[in-house]
Amino acid sequence: MIEAPRGTKDILPNEIKIWHFIEEVSRKIFEIYGYNEIRTPIFEFTELFMRGIGEFTDIVNKEMYTFQDHKGRNLTLRPENTASVVRAYLEHELNKNLPNAKLYYLGPMFRYERPQAGRQRQFWQIGTEAFGSDNPGLDAEVIAMILHLFSELGISNLETHINSVGCNSCRNDYKLDLVNHLSPQKEELCSDCKVKLNKNPLRILDCKRKNCRSLASKIPSIDLSLCKSCKEHLDQVCDYLKELNINYIVNPYLVRGLDYYTHTTFEIIDKSLGAQNAVAAGGRYNNLIAQMEGPDIPAIGFAAGIERIILSIKNSFTSNERNDDNKSIYLATTSPKAHLAGIKIIQELRKAGFMVNMDWTSKSLKSQLRRAHKLRANFTIILGEEEISKHEVEIKNMKDGNQIRVSIDKLNEYFVKKFYVEGKLV
Ligand SMILES: [Zn+2]
Ligand SMILES: [Zn+2]
Repeated sequence: MIEAPRGTKDILPNEIKIWHFIEEVSRKIFEIYGYNEIRTPIFEFTELFMRGIGEFTDIVNKEMYTFQDHKGRNLTLRPENTASVVRAYLEHELNKNLPNAKLYYLGPMFRYERPQAGRQRQFWQIGTEAFGSDNPGLDAEVIAMILHLFSELGISNLETHINSVGCNSCRNDYKLDLVNHLSPQKEELCSDCKVKLNKNPLRILDCKRKNCRSLASKIPSIDLSLCKSCKEHLDQVCDYLKELNINYIVNPYLVRGLDYYTHTTFEIIDKSLGAQNAVAAGGRYNNLIAQMEGPDIPAIGFAAGIERIILSIKNSFTSNERNDDNKSIYLATTSPKAHLAGIKIIQELRKAGFMVNMDWTSKSLKSQLRRAHKLRANFTIILGEEEISKHEVEIKNMKDGNQIRVSIDKLNEYFVKKFYVEGKLV
C-alpha cells in the first residue's frame, strides 16, 4: 500500500474544524489591520530563493525541494512566502498600483527537515508583509496584530522577544567582530559553521549544535555594535509597544535564520511548546526589495506555522472548554416509501440552511438512531408511512429523548425556533 511521504500529513475531517477556525480568525484579524490577501504560486524559479533568502542559509543549502521541469528550468517548491510576495509586488508594480501595500497569505510551504511535533516537510503558514514604511510604529503594530490574533485564537501566556540586527553598515561591523572573536576558536566550530565564518558569520548564532552554542554565548551581543540610528529605531519600537501596553523582552541574540532581515526582528514564544517554542516570527527587511533589483522600499512582515499554532491552542484549552457548535438533524425512515418522501422534506430543510444527514444503507430504525447519536445530531426526524399519511413527522430530541409530532409544513419554523431562538443565536 502506498503511504503519504514522510513529513506530509493528511488533514482528516475530524481535524479540519480547527484549521477552518484558525484560517477564518486570521483572515478577519489581518483585514481589520488593513491587509489584503495575495496568493502566489507554490513553485518559483530556484534563483528567487537563492537571492531572496540568501545562498548561505540552511534553507537554501539543505532544505529546498528543487527539481527541473521538462525544459530543464530549475524550480523550487516555496520554502517560505516572503520572497514570492516581494517578487509579485515588483512584477505587478504594486508600489505604484496599490495605495496600501499590506498583504497577507495563507498556504503550504516545503522544507526538507527532520519531521517533529509541529514541523512537517509540507507545513502551513500564515503571514503578512507591509511595504513602504520604515516607521518603527509599524513594527509595533505588526506585533500588536499577532498578539491580537493569538488572543482571538485562545492562546495566552506568550512572550514577545525583540531585537535589532542593525542596518548594512553596523551589521557589517558586527560581522567583523564575530569573525575576530571566533577565528581563534575556529577548530571548535562544526563543519557548517566553519563555512559560515567566511560566508555569513551571523548565521553561527542560529546553529543548534552544543559546541557552537556555547561559543556563540560568549560573543558580544549585537546591541553593542548598533549605530545611532538603528539604536533609535529599536528604542522607538519599544516606545510604541509600551504605549500599547505590550510586554516585551529585548533579546540581543535574536538574529533569525534568514539573510534579509534588517533592524527589528521578533519572535512570539509559547513556553508550553518546549524546544521549538516560537509560534510566530518576523522582522523588517528594508534591503530585500532593492536586493531583488526593485526600488529602495522598506518592508516588514511575519510568518507563523499553523501546525504549531494548533499545538499551542491544544495546550491552552482543555477539550471541554471549547463550545460544541454542532447543529444537525438526522432523518431516519422506516420504509422505502418513507425514504422517498423523506428526501423531499430534508431538501427543503437544507435549502433553509440546516445541516441534515440521512441513511443510505437501508438499516433498521434502531441502527439509524445509533448512527444519529454517532453523528451528534441534535434531532432525529422519524418518518414512516403512518406519519406520511397524516402529513406529519416524529421528531426525537437526541439530548433528552423526548419525542414530538410536528406537521411537515411547520418543520422549518420548528427548527428555526429550536436552533436559533432557544439556542440563543438571535
Ligand atoms: Zn545601523
Ligand atoms: Zn555550528
